[in-house]
Amino acid sequence: MTDERRIPSTGAQVDLLVSADVLYTLTEDTPIVVNGEVAINGNTIVYSGPAKDNGFWQPKKTLSGKGKAVMPGFVNCHSHAASALFRSQSDDGVGGQALYSVAFRSEKHISTEQWRDLALLGVVDMIRSGITTINDIWYEPEGLAEAAEAAGLRAQIALKLFDVKLEELYANRYERVATEGEERLRRGVDFVEKYAASKSGLVTGRIGPHATDTCSPELHIEACAEAGRLGVGLHTHVAQSKQEVEYCQSTYNKGPAEFLADLDVLSHRSILAHLTFASDIDLDLITQSKARYAHCPTIYPRRGVYPDLQGIQDRRIVTGIATDWMMNDPFEAMRNAMNAVRLLSGRHDALTSLAAIKLATIGSAKVMGIEDQVGSLAIGKRADLIQLDLQRPHLQPFYAEYSSLAYYARASDVVCSVIDGRLVLEGDCILGLDEPNILNRIKKHVPDWLAVLKRHGGVGAVLGCGCG
Ligand SMILES: [Zn+2]
Repeated sequence: MTDERRIPSTGAQVDLLVSADVLYTLTEDTPIVVNGEVAINGNTIVYSGPAKDNGFWQPKKTLSGKGKAVMPGFVNCHSHAASALFRSQSDDGVGGQALYSVAFRSEKHISTEQWRDLALLGVVDMIRSGITTINDIWYEPEGLAEAAEAAGLRAQIALKLFDVKLEELYANRYERVATEGEERLRRGVDFVEKYAASKSGLVTGRIGPHATDTCSPELHIEACAEAGRLGVGLHTHVAQSKQEVEYCQSTYNKGPAEFLADLDVLSHRSILAHLTFASDIDLDLITQSKARYAHCPTIYPRRGVYPDLQGIQDRRIVTGIATDWMMNDPFEAMRNAMNAVRLLSGRHDALTSLAAIKLATIGSAKVMGIEDQVGSLAIGKRADLIQLDLQRPHLQPFYAEYSSLAYYARASDVVCSVIDGRLVLEGDCILGLDEPNILNRIKKHVPDWLAVLKRHGGVGAVLGCGCG
């Protein structure tokens, strides 16, 4: 038995005691506790269960649980924290193709400073939404890493690698630029090495070959070799669009996952996002490789498609729920998943509330390979948890079921967040970042961004003077 697991005795001193009218531990032995508490020392949970008698603990700080529920923080196993830029740009009309026509053509016109401000915005949004861990792939990983460390958000981060001209893909022109891939891989490796030595340990790196159609076979192979050398995982989009699948079929005569499997770059350390258009052959190869799956339920329905989540789960592919880009509400994501799977199968019990909550917490932790640290409120794990305010009209009466959370709660109900034992959101205030200043900076960038987006088919209007 480790020190963390030693049963505390009366008068035990702890750094933080978080109480709850309802405690969702998501552990096997005490799943839902009415009148529970979590005791934390340093970054570790030393107790999680029914509330002890008054005076049992001597906490340095206490968070009252009156009218509150406590649950593990959400683990977001596929995100683009800085992607708020594209909100409203691909939701109607052009749909999925806007990824190629609007996003890929606009991204190169966004400055480093602007990506950093967007990353700050994304970190604030994630924390406010109850997300305590992200697995992110995008531009400017350094900016996101600094924002995550300042705010106290746990993060695995990869630089987006590609060796095509992204801005040409909308016209189905795939021109390879090997130097671009080499340069990006070098920078991605530097990032991983830098954060392997980071003091907080909150931020670590991955290697992120962006997708099967945006990276050449050579880049996928080199990226996999570097990830192996560094001892970190890979993060890739697979079968996310029809264009990608058609490209793989016409170029390699294979499906996207088949292409990766034949390159021998899939393993349990690979995180594959989407699989929206994956074939049975693709899914069978992913199963054999033990690669893991990030499922992003909020983005698919608006494109009029949905991955075969049931088939993926039947194959026992390790799966987590993620938010992907532009929206970061894990409750909305869980509801979208449950509703989609139930509609597609015609079964009301196809994906239960408990199953959805597990996919968004411990499931995503397994996808990221950190299930021994986060994803449930078990003694000995890192203290990553959120408190929800139940005194809201849409949550009353609250019957303390899993469906009470999965079908009724909203991201905006999150009022407190603790990550690695550190309070990062309290009393409606983000503690590690200057949120009003971030929002002001974003507002000032909007006229520039809208000009870029509109040149590439985007939409929208600037509000007010935009001067902040
Ligand atoms: Zn994505």
